[in-house]
Amino acid sequence: NIAKQRMPIYRGLERYKLIKKLGDGAFSNVFKALDTETQENVAVKVVRKFELNKQQRASVLKEAQIMRTASHPSIVQLKGFIETEDHSFLILELCEGGELFHQIVRLTYLSEDLARHCIGQVAEAIRYLHESKGVVHRDIKPENLLFEPIPIRPRQVPLKPTEYEEGEEEEPKEDEGEFIPGIGGGGIGRVKIADFGLSKVVWNSHTMTPCGTVGYTAPEIVRDERYSKSVDMWALGCVLYTLLCGFPPFYDESIQMLTEKVARGHYTFMSPWWNHVSKEAMDLISHLLCFDPEKRYTIDQFLQDPWMQKNKPTHKPNS
Ligand code: ADP
Ligand code: MG
Repeated sequence: NIAKQRMPIYRGLERYKLIKKLGDGAFSNVFKALDTETQENVAVKVVRKFELNKQQRASVLKEAQIMRTASHPSIVQLKGFIETEDHSFLILELCEGGELFHQIVRLTYLSEDLARHCIGQVAEAIRYLHESKGVVHRDIKPENLLFEPIPIRPRQVPLKPTEYEEGEEEEPKEDEGEFIPGIGGGGIGRVKIADFGLSKVVWNSHTMTPCGTVGYTAPEIVRDERYSKSVDMWALGCVLYTLLCGFPPFYDESIQMLTEKVARGHYTFMSPWWNHVSKEAMDLISHLLCFDPEKRYTIDQFLQDPWMQKNKPTHKPNS
């Protein structure tokens, strides 16, 4: 029997009953919790405000603000925001399927079809952010991409010989399903973008207005917006690379060396790990991991790429 985790108690969070810890960050802990008013399970991101400086506190407000205005099936929904003197609480839609990161660890790497499915959902959410909201996420990575769980019945697991005592009836025990996989059991959950802690609004309702005012916008503003968005596209390339081979395009034990490698932007499709991957997939990655941000694929170019379009039913125009 697994000992029950002792849950912390937070003033101001009485409505929610914490059930278990889901994750940790530098200044936050995320818990699964029961909303006692709606009887619905949620995730609560507890930010320790007292450890933050003024700027960091403001960025928590921005995180909540951006999430509040984003409404997309592949973006974790913000259900509420509570502030006390010491803490900020983000009440979030629960994604119990776990991080995409864990699925890569579990499965080593994904098939091209599965990778396309996952990255496609992330890309649709990024298109929504870039084109409808003027928001760049700036922290796209497998730890911040979460799966909706797929409903699976608890498995019947036979006891191991070491788990029953002599003379006892051999009874299968029930797997408590502590971990509901985002991929498995014959299905795959939706992937959702979480953690808007570094996200930023790159245009506002002002620059959005058609022609007239845009004509007076300085080139560096327009360029800066494009430049910011290209940051998410690079990250998307890193995620797709990792999905297809199981390790990231840039890696080194030493942070300093890793920083050097990223700064050079040089990566390879190493044999034998890339032998099974199609040329089309590698082509697409090279358009994302493109050193020059001006030449890097935009989200629309990404979604239109032949590899992404593969297996898509072609629409016949209605007449
Ligand atoms: P940080 O800004 O500290 O990185 P995140 O928002 O990324 O915080 O949350 C940290 C971790 O908590 C995530 O990587 C994930 O494992 C877990 N987590 C966050 N939000 C949810 C959620 N809505 N549902 C399930 N798990 C979550
Ligand atoms: Mg995170």
